[in-house]
Amino acid sequence: MLGTLRKIVQEVNAAKDLKAALGIIVLRVREAMASQVCSVYLLDPESGRFVLMATEGLNKKAIGKVSMAPNEGLVGLVGTREEPLNLEHASEHPRYRYFAETGEERYASFLGAPIIHHRRVMGVLVIQQKEQRLFDEGEEAFLVTMSAQLAGVIAHAEATGSIRGLGRQGKGIQETRFIGIPGAPGAAVGTAVVVLPPADLDVVPDKSITNIPAELELFEAALEAVRADMRALSEKLATQMRKEERALFDVYLMMLDDSALGGEVSKVIRTGQWAQGALRQVVADHVGRFEMMDDAYLRERASDVKDIGRRLLGYLQQARQQTLTYPDNTILVSEELSPAMLGEVPEGKLMGMVSVLGSSNSHVAILARAMGIPTVMGAVDLPYSKVDGIELIIDGTRGEIITNPAKVLREQYLVLAEQERQLSEGLDILRELPCETTDGLRIPLWVNTGLLADVVRAQERGAEGVGLYRTEVPFMIKERFPSEKEQMAIYREQLQAFHPLPVTMRSLDIGGDKSLPYFPIKEENPFLGWRGIRVTLDHPEIFLLQTRAMLKASAGLNNLRILLPMISGTRELEEALHLIHRAWGEVRDEGTDVEMPPVGVMIEVPAAVYLTRELARQVDFISVGSNDLTQYLLAVDRNNPRVADLYDYLHPAVLEALQRVVREAHEEGKPVSICGEMAGDPGAAMLLLAMGFDSLSMNATNLPKVKWMLRQISSVTARELLAKVMVMDSPQVIRATLQLTLRNLGLDRMVNPSAAL
Ligand code: PEP
Ligand code: MG
Repeated sequence: MLGTLRKIVQEVNAAKDLKAALGIIVLRVREAMASQVCSVYLLDPESGRFVLMATEGLNKKAIGKVSMAPNEGLVGLVGTREEPLNLEHASEHPRYRYFAETGEERYASFLGAPIIHHRRVMGVLVIQQKEQRLFDEGEEAFLVTMSAQLAGVIAHAEATGSIRGLGRQGKGIQETRFIGIPGAPGAAVGTAVVVLPPADLDVVPDKSITNIPAELELFEAALEAVRADMRALSEKLATQMRKEERALFDVYLMMLDDSALGGEVSKVIRTGQWAQGALRQVVADHVGRFEMMDDAYLRERASDVKDIGRRLLGYLQQARQQTLTYPDNTILVSEELSPAMLGEVPEGKLMGMVSVLGSSNSHVAILARAMGIPTVMGAVDLPYSKVDGIELIIDGTRGEIITNPAKVLREQYLVLAEQERQLSEGLDILRELPCETTDGLRIPLWVNTGLLADVVRAQERGAEGVGLYRTEVPFMIKERFPSEKEQMAIYREQLQAFHPLPVTMRSLDIGGDKSLPYFPIKEENPFLGWRGIRVTLDHPEIFLLQTRAMLKASAGLNNLRILLPMISGTRELEEALHLIHRAWGEVRDEGTDVEMPPVGVMIEVPAAVYLTRELARQVDFISVGSNDLTQYLLAVDRNNPRVADLYDYLHPAVLEALQRVVREAHEEGKPVSICGEMAGDPGAAMLLLAMGFDSLSMNATNLPKVKWMLRQISSVTARELLAKVMVMDSPQVIRATLQLTLRNLGLDRMVNPSAAL
């Protein structure tokens, strides 16, 4: 059973579009269940009806014509109840409806299973049988399993169609939204340029070409190059392999022939497909066929074909390298963006980026934030290889990509992007002005940094200090642990750049999703594992060395503050404080005269929220890491797009925790700041101001927006708003209230258009 299921899913996955996928589903499921009819009905979002989209057994002319409303027929019943339905005498059921077009009356029994993807009913999979019988439990379970597996495949195929502006029935549609993770804030509208990793055949996009002879020539050259490689390889191994064994290379050469793979690819090219796309199609076809064979030897041949495909692609990509053109409004899209890909784009042309893999802590996201390029990470549902040349909207603040935008939304985003640009241009006036409410409440805005590039942007934007310097960033871009001297130089640059303003340096915070290539941590549950202070307390040599480097770097400047991440109890804090004092003693013994810097603790674990007073008593300041605090309070992985809609720092539990931390820190007479992304959200910043935070630390991109917003309101308004939302129990209602308040104040200029939808 499992084998059959796997084979079907594999075959469906390789289908070129939704229609082909559905055709395979009905054919194979009917075969596997030895029934007379298998059909798929999909729910058309526009008409709200279940439309017959594919069938084996019913009249094919009925495809696209027969449809039923959710309150009609057995299919409608399965779809609305979201449960399978197993009937011996279908025609006796009160909901049975007869459609003459389908020739249905000859079938007595009916088994239907809903197709549901992420809570959304997509359609119904139906099996029908001539003889009157109840399908057994095994058959029912098979169909349910099948439809659960197919839901994802159908969703993917549908998404692929929709990015070309085509709905399920080939009708034009507008706007498909793909959810990812915010990588770097900001909005952009531009043209997608898909960058492929070297020689990864699976992700080659389709592309139409007009100059077919040139394309054929290109492919011929690649064939010849691989042939030459094969011959050379065979010669090279002549002394180590017997002649018969070397026959393997002859097989390869044969595969490249005109009568085999080579010829098939040329044929597809002649239909107007570029060489890489044609190669992908043909190789996928062959591989799919081989992989489905029961014979293990033949299954193995699939890997030979893949290898040949990769080699050919390598040459094609080399030949194409120079021809990748970047339009003026490039949105770089890749399965896994790398800093090198970003570097290839000519200056001034890069408007936004999308990466299918990776999180907000990937190098590229860190770089994007430093450079102020709107970026979405973890866009796992985006059929990215199909978007080349298509217009996209990137909402880096919300972590969304919109394909095929309707005119209105496109205009709104263009306005937003323009406002953001103007705001950053008009910074000169804003930079010199304090962040002060209309009734004179002053709140310093600090910046979060990692790379040196952040420093420049932060200064341009008038940051009043660094609230969080993520020291793991320079560690992440090295090949090994940086030495004390190297660290000292890096830290001094930061301290000097902001002097005399304070720079809060956080001790190394690795683990979770932040790993160092030279210090891998592999765990089942990394966010609950060896992370942050837990790692550095277990490796005092790393902690001591880093602290010594920070202290030495601050000599003569004295604007250093040290911050400890992931503290969950007083013992960890005491151990860390002990090590800091030890490092301080050592540095002074070595003759460097530095003051003991203020030390602070991050509140980002729920346990720490309840220990704020105890922790505050032992340190000089408190800083809330709302990114992790939200993740841990709500038990929602901050980097998992599947649960991204549950991750919300406006959740009442988070707001409650924040208020408590401020109150308790102040009761101990200690200042409290916040350095998670929340502080950079202009709406949320009003609440934080009202709660009494002493400073807000955010990325440089958002700083002017927050300053602009807080300078427009009075602290009284902010407090009234806070009082209002603190009695609400839903994050959605809280967000809507914030937006409405801003709108009523005429301040909704900074609100994303999509947030209002
Ligand atoms: C946080 O958790 O809010 C925080 C600022 O730290 P990081 O995002 O680096 O985990
Ligand atoms: Mg954190």
